[in-house]
Amino acid sequence: MAEQPLIPPRGKVNLADYSPDYTGSWDRESAQEYVQMLREQLSVLQNKLYADGRHAVLVILQAMDAGGKDGTIRSIFTGVSPQGVEVTSFKVPTEEERSRDFLWRVHKRVPRKGMIGVFNRSHYEDVLVARVDGLVAESVWRKRYDQINEFEELLTESGTTILKFFLHISKEEQKKRFEERLTDPGKHWKFSLGDLEVRKRWDLYMRAYEDVLEKCNRPHAPWHIVPANAKWYRDLVVMETLVQALARLPLRFPLAEAGIENIVIPD
Ligand code: ATP
Ligand code: MG
Repeated sequence: MAEQPLIPPRGKVNLADYSPDYTGSWDRESAQEYVQMLREQLSVLQNKLYADGRHAVLVILQAMDAGGKDGTIRSIFTGVSPQGVEVTSFKVPTEEERSRDFLWRVHKRVPRKGMIGVFNRSHYEDVLVARVDGLVAESVWRKRYDQINEFEELLTESGTTILKFFLHISKEEQKKRFEERLTDPGKHWKFSLGDLEVRKRWDLYMRAYEDVLEKCNRPHAPWHIVPANAKWYRDLVVMETLVQALARLPLRFPLAEAGIENIVIPD
């Protein structure tokens, strides 16, 4: 079992209390073996979720740049049928998206029953970058926490299990990963000069994340602060949380059609 510090149900979240280096009592090798075992369980459970068709699962990934969202998706869903997983990466909103309410583009991408939806960035950008960069007035983003909570409640009550992960890396780890992106030609495409502007506002982002983790951590849609400096521990935490959530769903294969026991397949 992955140990991870839980977010207090009420009260302030201080990210400095959560070490991005934390790996519990795990080492890389045993963690990777465990993840491999969970991967097999995930594949079985996902097949059942799809066949059952009565529940949906939504995985929300948020992180600073180079926080490992892409790597997590690759690692977790290796071995799962692509037919049952839908990944949406939310970028800077287009003109069409900006002319609607902030949840419009998000609501369109929520998973249908039987599916696992993955959001690489999400509606939380609208209280993160939108707040830090002042893209909208404070009176606008302040209201969004409640709007998000109600939106997520609607999804939950409609049969969607929501799991939210903040991949928590340190500022030093981001520097290391940016440097790799600069030296490895295969990773140049992952780096943009804008990333440095965002990095300058690191502390403001941490405050904005703390508010998100505090205001939108609801029993029906909890946040998980994932220690993410060690990629193998990050994968373990996300994978285990997802597998446990699927295992808690009352999944069953649909019943056979009446008379199936008498059917003989003709030659
Ligand atoms: P990586 O971490 O690998 O760089 P990425 O998720 O940053 O991947 P990019 O295409 O580099 O992918 O960036 C997406 C950009 O879109 C981010 O800078 C993010 O802040 C921005 N973005 C996403 N949603 C919104 C939003 N609602 N309003 C404004 N900007 C947004
Ligand atoms: Mg980026």
